[in-house]
Amino acid sequence: MEAVESTAHRHAGSSRRRALVIGAGIAGLAAALRLHQHGWDVVVLERAPSRRSSGYLLNLHGPGYTAAERLGLVPALTRRDIGFFTSVLVHADGREKLRVPSEVTEAAVGTRALSLFRGDLESALYDAVADFADIRFGTTPQEIVQTPGEVVVTLGDGTRLQAELLVGADGVHSRVRELVFGSEPDYFVDLGHMVGAFPLRTPPERIPEGVGSTYIGPGRTAAVMNLGPQRSSTFFAYRCPDPGADLSLGAEPALTRAFGDLGGGIAEALQQIDPATVFFDSVGQIVMDRWSRDRVVLLGDAAWCVTVFAGYGAALALDGADRLGTTLAAHGDDILAALAAWESELRPEVHKRQALARKGIARFAPPSRFHVWAAEQALRAIQLPGIRTLVRRSIQRANN
Ligand SMILES: Cc1cc2nc3c(=O)[nH]c(=O)nc-3n(C[C@H](O)[C@H](O)[C@H](O)COP(=O)(O)OP(=O)(O)OC[C@H]3O[C@@H](n4cnc5c(N)ncnc54)[C@H](O)[C@@H]3O)c2cc1C
Repeated sequence: MEAVESTAHRHAGSSRRRALVIGAGIAGLAAALRLHQHGWDVVVLERAPSRRSSGYLLNLHGPGYTAAERLGLVPALTRRDIGFFTSVLVHADGREKLRVPSEVTEAAVGTRALSLFRGDLESALYDAVADFADIRFGTTPQEIVQTPGEVVVTLGDGTRLQAELLVGADGVHSRVRELVFGSEPDYFVDLGHMVGAFPLRTPPERIPEGVGSTYIGPGRTAAVMNLGPQRSSTFFAYRCPDPGADLSLGAEPALTRAFGDLGGGIAEALQQIDPATVFFDSVGQIVMDRWSRDRVVLLGDAAWCVTVFAGYGAALALDGADRLGTTLAAHGDDILAALAAWESELRPEVHKRQALARKGIARFAPPSRFHVWAAEQALRAIQLPGIRTLVRRSIQRANN
């Protein structure tokens, strides 16, 4: 009989349960951390050949910050926090329209917030798990077979790994979902937009340090942040009738076609696109009736991608992973009951964030000039102390 590598091979005689986590991203590493803390041995399989750094900028506040706190990550993340910066809204030709100083954003968002490069969040998680998790890069599952008591995963080189639980945390285009639940079109709800983001090798010359320059026009948003060397980055979102065609075209031509006419340092920033570091994808939510099938559970974007328009996917990945570990611990040996309880606890929050994301599309790709104008009035109003308090309260409400 072909040999099956038990994930507990390094701990012969141990009574610890074994979990396989697919994907060493935010959800996967957070799950590895929490599961280990609750007594599991964890093997993580990551398709990328090595760790990636940098990536795009993301914010953690509200429950995302609280989950990071519960996972013990806040001290490490605070060291990597980029902090608040001044936002300058520009006309298409780059002239300044209005300015929102960093103090105004800070007063609206509050102090329990972090701005991080995705890679820095991943690094903090990696550092927290590296000493105990068996993390294998350059590998992906080819087959997943379940019996009543275990899951067996076959890798590309024929290696077979056995575990009591498999966590599919391999992102919006999940291979685990495809192997166990069915093909992507069954679950992917296309929102008709594209998103791009990449770090800048050289800080943009036309934008002063400490400033993010943003253009918001009908159907599109572009932002270029000068936060100094190694910390400057870009963000692009636009309405797109045929995302498949733009994906085939590729990041550089598609983003240049959509934003190359813009001033204020945006067109220049596009010249720094590097295929190795650019993120470029269509925007779509994952909607599923169930996130687990027997001992295979999906987590993070693989299960419920809320999209960039929610600004909340990383927060949910951390929160979901934290709660998964805690719920499994509370249910002892009954893994299936734990997965059902975890899912019913988390679903209302995911549902709310997916709905907010669909509403939020208009902020990133306003349908008309009127919508652009109305958003600008709201930004101007935020600078008035009374309105700022109202905005802070509405952010707090969304976070509860
Ligand atoms: C531009 C942008 C800005 C965002 N801003 C925010 C924000 O401000 N706040 C926020 O909370 N969220 C934000 N998000 C969302 C957030 O980044 C995602 O929701 C989050 O990264 C999801 O984490 P994940 O671990 O589920 O998936 P991912 O981060 O996609 O990680 C999946 C991992 O699985 C690996 N993998 C993929 N396929 C396989 C395979 N077949 N086998 C093995 N491994 C595999 C990948 O290489 C990767 O390491 C933003 C997203 C974008 C695109």
